Amino acid sequence: MPKEIIFMPLGGGQRVGASCYYLKLGENNILLDVGTGRENGITFVPNFRTLLMSPYVESLGQINQIYISHAHTDHVGYLTQLMKEAPNADVYMTDITRLLCEYQLYDKRYLLKRGNENHRLDTLSVFDKITEVSYMKKLKFSSYGSTFFSAGHIPGAMMTFFRYDRRNILYTGDYSIDPTPFTEGCVLPNNLNIDTLIMCGLHARHPNYRKRSDKLFHEVRKVFDFARRKNISVLCYIPQLSKGIEFIKMLNRYNDCQVPIYIDRSIMNVVYKMERLAIPVLNEHNRMMGTDFPTRSHIYVTSDITSRPPGVYTTLNIDFSLHEDFPQMKKFIKQLNPRQAVVVHCARPYRDSDITLEQEIIADGECRTQFIFAQENEIYKL
Ligand SMILES: [Zn+2]
Ligand SMILES: [Zn+2]
Repeated sequence: MPKEIIFMPLGGGQRVGASCYYLKLGENNILLDVGTGRENGITFVPNFRTLLMSPYVESLGQINQIYISHAHTDHVGYLTQLMKEAPNADVYMTDITRLLCEYQLYDKRYLLKRGNENHRLDTLSVFDKITEVSYMKKLKFSSYGSTFFSAGHIPGAMMTFFRYDRRNILYTGDYSIDPTPFTEGCVLPNNLNIDTLIMCGLHARHPNYRKRSDKLFHEVRKVFDFARRKNISVLCYIPQLSKGIEFIKMLNRYNDCQVPIYIDRSIMNVVYKMERLAIPVLNEHNRMMGTDFPTRSHIYVTSDITSRPPGVYTTLNIDFSLHEDFPQMKKFIKQLNPRQAVVVHCARPYRDSDITLEQEIIADGECRTQFIFAQENEIYKL
């Protein structure tokens, strides 16, 4: 009789935000990601109450390991708070994720805005407890082993592979098969033989959604079309900081006319962190807005809509996707061919009549995969 595996989404089930998944492998209580979410201007966090009411955990002090897939706030936003509530948990992430997390959870709160000094020192001290891991590294625990693979998506993103009672489990976090501006796409060994795939499937209910792989390139071209032909300044508004850096990387790649590119302080702070990790972003045409004021038409990249330097700008809202679309997810499932796919981080269907990835895969005779679209606060025995 195989031993039981318990799985329970505490957030980020059939919606995006506050990703946090409880996984019980033998006597080990594991959390996959600890994010926050925002809806109608209000921040929400994972629901630990249902975990504490379950037969498995009486106090958060019984959490043994926390794995953080990557530094987006929907996966890491609640980490520093949880580390205080779950003091016995060891936390694992890549070195790049740690650095970007420090920015998201510490710098942004305490250095850029001024916060409470005690909270600041408290938050700073929890970062010392994080264990950095690298891709392909193996860890061994009393009842299971874990290994990490590059997930694509953003720098530092990792998938976590668990080996427990002769079963193979893979948690993808957010991932991408195709290259993104800073990654080569996910890198997985050929013979993983996955039994259970726990997959972030943002578009698993969007059969008609197609990611235009050239969308990012088109956004870049649009900016240069304005900046060059019309000889005016362009303000590029990108709400997500990390996307801002990806966009700057692409602007720099195609800036043949050597237009000055100004960057706001928030984005620049993250850029400096990336450069410290030997991930090059900047070139000689980049400046930080505020230390140097533009004298001629330029491009200004900002994640803060209220930051508007004097001068006349054409504002462009920039957006692009680092997630897989429906056909790419289908390809990923077919390649791995797991016995079971647990889909989380899944957005609502655009229309009621839309089929899911499950219906698409069932129609495909070659694939053995059974699906669970895991609901928050429900217990699943895998
Ligand atoms: Zn996410
Ligand atoms: Zn992400």
